[in-house]
Amino acid sequence: MTTMALLYLDLKDAFQTEWCCLCYEMARATLKYMRYFVREGKADGQVWAGLLRSRGLCHRHALVMLRAEVSEYGDGLSTGTLYDWLLDDLLRTIQKEDPGAGQAAWRNIFRRDGEPIPAAQRLAERLTPSGPCQACVHLDEYEASAAWGFQRFVSPSRGEAEFRDGFEAAAPLCLPHFRAVLREAEDGGTLDYLVQAQARKLHDLSRELKEYLRKHNYQYSHEPMGREKDSWRRTLRAFVGQMPDEATGLRGRVVRGRAGDGASPAGGGPPRDGGEGHGPAERERP
Ligand SMILES: [Zn+2]
Ligand SMILES: [Zn+2]
Repeated sequence: MTTMALLYLDLKDAFQTEWCCLCYEMARATLKYMRYFVREGKADGQVWAGLLRSRGLCHRHALVMLRAEVSEYGDGLSTGTLYDWLLDDLLRTIQKEDPGAGQAAWRNIFRRDGEPIPAAQRLAERLTPSGPCQACVHLDEYEASAAWGFQRFVSPSRGEAEFRDGFEAAAPLCLPHFRAVLREAEDGGTLDYLVQAQARKLHDLSRELKEYLRKHNYQYSHEPMGREKDSWRRTLRAFVGQMPDEATGLRGRVVRGRAGDGASPAGGGPPRDGGEGHGPAERERP
């Protein structure tokens, strides 16, 4: 099955959750990539060189790696091995500062007055990453492909009605992913469709949020909350996408029934479909 065919199925699965479908797909792809990364991906020569430049992973992907290795393998061996190497390099960098500037400069780093110390400035500069996080590089590329795929699947001229139906019943795209998809839109018909469908979803959300706020007025506080009870949370998500905890492995709640197996996202989040050794673009279905 091609990568695009897999993406199509993954996004249709993601429509069943309460998340932006592209956020959900990226959570799945991120977890999959990090499971591959912890055991094999980091051994690639270019990736190692990149990890040196970036001084390891960014904060977000470090968190995913932490959780992925523990949940998948029950230890921190791979993370420990990688960061042992990075730590050695970090120590070499720190100790490389010329000793002439050394002692006084080190003491003076903690001064609260006066001008910045050149030796401290140089060291800070050398400790600053000079390249992007390797996971970001890989996953940003996949994300752009997924955004392109999404606009193609919803395109009135080139997409599929069944996919559009699924999207119309699903959560709105978050603002970052809405922008990403708009940037990939290939024709006017797709643009019109995207704007109309997204606006309709945001209108619905707005109505729910207003209802939530109304029921907090004491005059109406006796009225039971319905679906609007978490509209404030969904609205926040519509602006920024997944919250960090959600993006690192917690599961998206299924909002509509679906016959899912244990490995599917509708079974509750990014699937544990194994396949170490495959990046998101190469994955195989379980
Ligand atoms: Zn999103
Ligand atoms: Zn990153």
